[in-house]
Amino acid sequence: MPVRLTILGSGSSGNCAYLETDETRILIDAGFSGRQIRQRLASIGRTPESLSGILLTHEHSDHIQGLVGLGTRLQIPVYCNRLTKDAVEHQLKLRLDSRLFGTGASFEIGDVSVDTFAVPHDAHDPVGFLLRTAAANIGFLTDLGHATKLVVERVRSANVLILETNHDLKLLQDDLKRPWSVKQRIMSRHGHLSNDAAADVVEEIVSANLRHLYLGHLSRDCNRPELAHHVVSDRLRTIGAVHTQVNSTSQDSPSPTLELPDR
Ligand SMILES: [Zn+2]
Ligand SMILES: [Zn+2]
Repeated sequence: MPVRLTILGSGSSGNCAYLETDETRILIDAGFSGRQIRQRLASIGRTPESLSGILLTHEHSDHIQGLVGLGTRLQIPVYCNRLTKDAVEHQLKLRLDSRLFGTGASFEIGDVSVDTFAVPHDAHDPVGFLLRTAAANIGFLTDLGHATKLVVERVRSANVLILETNHDLKLLQDDLKRPWSVKQRIMSRHGHLSNDAAADVVEEIVSANLRHLYLGHLSRDCNRPELAHHVVSDRLRTIGAVHTQVNSTSQDSPSPTLELPDR
């Protein structure tokens, strides 16, 4: 059976991805309502009941709001670090069936090896993931203000990368809805990656390994999918990395499922 990856949705107000292997079915973040996640899983013929676990990057609501409906009611194990668990339980007023890991640790969920690493973001103990499967290494890198050496090193072997292209700097600066303090937070070293910053990250990590790049976590007001796509594709072309396929993601609907045959 091929390994299948579906970005169920990604954007500033909700993030959730589904990964399926021979033995394992997991969500990476659960940032839509339980009902939305159920509907989006149903659209690919799956149910939350069959999940082996939910991995959490950090406690911001656009990554955890579905836990109210899913994690507790269905008793799906939630994999996260201690500070994230405490923050989630406090915020949502519930008890998780948690499987704790230390940031930087690696562990297995069935036949998926999970590498965790710290990312600079304004949460208690935010992490990124590299999920190693028989078919491919899949990196999750959303919600980070800048890419540290460690981050770059950890995702360098990714064949598939979900990378944040949060905002266009000019659209953010010109935005009328956000107060200056919020803009400053977003642009800070512990905020979010702009399109240009994401292109810099791609340039740093790209190798022959990287086949599929998903641009995620776009701000609805301060970015546009075509803009993010253009900036990153342009950079890939400039550096001659024509083998990397760039895909947009949407807040509103799942991306087509990526099937990864055994290598
Ligand atoms: Zn966040
Ligand atoms: Zn987020």
